[in-house]
Amino acid sequence: MKTTLKLALVAAAAVAAFGAHAQDFPAKDKTVTLVVPFAAGGPTDRVARDLAEALRKPLGATVVVDNTAGAGSSIGAARVARATPDGYTLLLNHIGMSTMPALYRKLSFSVPNDFEYLGMVNEVPMTLIARPTMPANNFKELTAWIQQNKGKINLGNAGLGAASHLCGLMFKSALQTDMTDVPYKGTAPAITDLIGGQIDLLCDQTTNTTSQIEGKKVKAYAVTTAKRLTTPALKDLPTLAESGLKDFNVSIWHGLYAPKGTPADVQKKINEALKVALKDPEFIKKQEALGAVVITDKRIDGPEHKKFVAAEIDKWGAVIKAAGTYAD
Ligand code: ASP
Repeated sequence: MKTTLKLALVAAAAVAAFGAHAQDFPAKDKTVTLVVPFAAGGPTDRVARDLAEALRKPLGATVVVDNTAGAGSSIGAARVARATPDGYTLLLNHIGMSTMPALYRKLSFSVPNDFEYLGMVNEVPMTLIARPTMPANNFKELTAWIQQNKGKINLGNAGLGAASHLCGLMFKSALQTDMTDVPYKGTAPAITDLIGGQIDLLCDQTTNTTSQIEGKKVKAYAVTTAKRLTTPALKDLPTLAESGLKDFNVSIWHGLYAPKGTPADVQKKINEALKVALKDPEFIKKQEALGAVVITDKRIDGPEHKKFVAAEIDKWGAVIKAAGTYAD
């Protein structure tokens, strides 16, 4: 066999092994899987489904959301870290990307080294909510109820490292009260139990709680951001900081990732589609109605996204180490 032919065959085999070639990504007959590392019906899932819809046209492919929930997003993130780096398996994750390295002593992947950073999506405030039968009618009454019920309070979360867990850690430490953490695979099942009265309290993103608050299915006491929100259903809620928990400020962000080694030109195509999606008026409207703010600054580019997550790893790593919480 002639050397040139041999080389061409080797190159073709390499391309086949790695799948994607930018000029034919995305292929007409293939769908892109967007892994959500939390349960269906929750806030991360909600953002992912809206984003999948907004990405469809600019990317030229159907984006299918697939939930791989558990362990505070580390199971879904591990799935994507191990996936073929061809652009057809992506991850949408939140602040969990920056809490996992400090929380899990045996992570099977490295957040800085095993992913390509494709750009950030949005920032989402959280709300402190309670079961509908909670007797307290405002934050002051809630803190009094917490003092009276020490040792008996169940606080839900979406697993170690989830936003709800982080918010709960900060809330308990600000009040200097212990509560029993009850982990779920996402805050969708946690909210179901909160509505049913099996747990007492939960911190969850407005993308999930706005309709529950509006429908009076849960009681709401405060928002976790430094400023009050303008969303009609949430605008009367005080901030935790103004309610006496000085400097309390938690806002959750979401970003898009691909497995390390995804070809640079495939990453570029996805990033370009993401930028179009983030300007889609329908996507922006849906996000704003849920209290989320679509990101428009330079963090919509991979390198700035990566820099931001690295800073968040340092920031939350310090909080988590101070709380002495970890998992194997
Ligand atoms: N809201 C969850 C959290 O606490 C995640 C989810 O279910 O989307 O991180």
